[in-house]
Amino acid sequence: MLLAVEREAIVEYGRKLITSNLTTGSGGNLSIINREKNLVAIKPTGVDYFSMKPADVVVVSPEGIIVEGELAPSSEIRFHLALLQHRSDINAVVHTHQVYATTIACMNWELPAVHYLIGFSGNKVPLAKYATFGTQALSDNILTAIGSYNACLIANHGIVTVGNTIESAFTTAEELELVSRLYYQTKCIGKPVILSDEEMKIIGEKFKTYGQRK
Ligand code: 13P
Ligand code: ZN
Repeated sequence: MLLAVEREAIVEYGRKLITSNLTTGSGGNLSIINREKNLVAIKPTGVDYFSMKPADVVVVSPEGIIVEGELAPSSEIRFHLALLQHRSDINAVVHTHQVYATTIACMNWELPAVHYLIGFSGNKVPLAKYATFGTQALSDNILTAIGSYNACLIANHGIVTVGNTIESAFTTAEELELVSRLYYQTKCIGKPVILSDEEMKIIGEKFKTYGQRK
């Protein structure tokens, strides 16, 4: 089986999307590129995360040609492949309908630096313009909006996060759900105070060395 490790990770993190309340049903999708083998593992379209097996995960070329797998790939294959092609610094893409981030996206707002954990994306989370799910237009809008950020909201739809690993793309989605909730809640009780770009630059540097050093 091609990309056995990546296929297992798609199944594992797909289930985590549900157990972490980041998506519902078969909503959202995930992909991982193996740059040495030049192949991408991507979630099959419309399959329940808990019935999904590694063999159900679809392996495609970076151009989207199915190399191995019986099922049809995610309807959002266009933006997954576009991001993996244009961002050589990333190897994984996660898309969810997580409630608080999607609330902000349904307002067609960007997510500002209301909490320093926005640093998982950058100094904000930009907003991609609405287009029908699964279309080339949506892929183009996401690519335009995300730039070098690690996340972007999708108007009236959800959020996309990217990372060096599937774990980092997943963690970014999880942390940005917290920041989205804080933004929603602060807007409910008053006017949130937003951190400056200068402070977010400092946070960006500190994130590089945060955690246990080997
Ligand atoms: P897929 O099941 O085709 O991956 O679509 C889910 C989704 O979130 C569409 O935006
Ligand atoms: Zn979606």
